[in-house]
Amino acid sequence: MLLAMSITRRVTFRLYPSKTQAQKLSYWRRMHKDLYNAALYHRKTEYQKFGNRVDYIQQQNCLPAFKKEWPEYVELGSHALQATIKRVDFAYTRFFKGLGKYPRFKSIRHYSGWTYPCISGWKIETEGKNGYLTLSNLGRIQMRGKARTWGKPTTCTIVFRNGYWYASITVQCQPQRETGTGSVGIDLGCKEAITLSTGEKIAKPDFLEAGQNKVKNASKRLRRKRSSNRNKRVKASRRWKKERLKVSKLQRKVTRQREDWLHKTTSNIVSGNSLIAGEQLNVKGMTASAKKGKRKKQKAGLNRSILEVGFGIIGDLLTYKAAEAGGFYLESPTRELKPTQRCAQCWELTPKTLKDRTHFCSNPLCGHIEDRDVNAAQVNVIWARGQELASLDGESLSSTSCSKHEATGDEEASETSSMRLAWAR
Ligand SMILES: [Zn+2]
Repeated sequence: MLLAMSITRRVTFRLYPSKTQAQKLSYWRRMHKDLYNAALYHRKTEYQKFGNRVDYIQQQNCLPAFKKEWPEYVELGSHALQATIKRVDFAYTRFFKGLGKYPRFKSIRHYSGWTYPCISGWKIETEGKNGYLTLSNLGRIQMRGKARTWGKPTTCTIVFRNGYWYASITVQCQPQRETGTGSVGIDLGCKEAITLSTGEKIAKPDFLEAGQNKVKNASKRLRRKRSSNRNKRVKASRRWKKERLKVSKLQRKVTRQREDWLHKTTSNIVSGNSLIAGEQLNVKGMTASAKKGKRKKQKAGLNRSILEVGFGIIGDLLTYKAAEAGGFYLESPTRELKPTQRCAQCWELTPKTLKDRTHFCSNPLCGHIEDRDVNAAQVNVIWARGQELASLDGESLSSTSCSKHEATGDEEASETSSMRLAWAR
């Protein structure tokens, strides 16, 4: 099943401006920052002095007069200027909804760039890999990068990050992906990163831990150097600044490595299976529990490794990748299903602690023995198959045979599967 869906994707290219181009980019960034602060000041003082609530349209209508006063803003393009005003509006909307703090004036260090909200003001020459970006009144800039699926470019955001310039471009595209007919369950753990219901275990990559240690050591060196302290009027030392750069560079590398690994692993899982079953993770709750209560350290250890492998986004990645392939990713309700305690053979519950690494079924008629994580992954996939069958039954009673997921392995014993199906409903 190939769905012709058009969705928005963001593709980031690194820009290679010439020296004069880079100067102009920096100048423009500063101007956009000043405009942002001016718009913020306008809203703030109008409200404090006169009780007027200025909205976006009012500010947008001020722009022509503003450009007359400050003619250097003309070359930036009116749509880009509007987008910067819109950023102020977003910040206020967030604040009024209670999602963010009151908007603050931005320093250049905290102002990343600007946006072209439509197709005017910029032009791109690429087929998805490398190419050129042309900004009006600035020129043609070489860029490098690669999109997995290319489409129709819609907006362009210029970003300055860690000393480099990037163009972040949104495209309308129809991503597609190859997939197999199998179904698989997964279980995420701290010992093995991912366990599949087939028994395959994907270990946490060593380089992540090595990178983490490097970051730790560099941060230690950083702490020993003199940092800035506004109250004591101390400026940061040259060595501190140098070391801080090193720390952030290492952190960026670890982040990139982790993302790369997550993308490769999830793509691999999707490439062979069109039905993938995981469980709902309460990553936020787990992190919160580490801050108080007994066994603080042990829990903190569990949490850190959870964050380390980035479990939070595995579900998101599998969801969209499976959707691209025309398959499904389902998450079982962990609290009700209890995949770690349930037996994949007889569906009975066997209580376990974190220490028990093997599932010994407590049901005397069953006595099933399996690795703890493999069992949990199998429970997840059985649950997901039940969900899928249930939904197919609802649509058309006669066409259950059209299920595209072939049964894999011996856990598909017929008399128990009907029982599981009843439970799943
Ligand atoms: Zn059992």
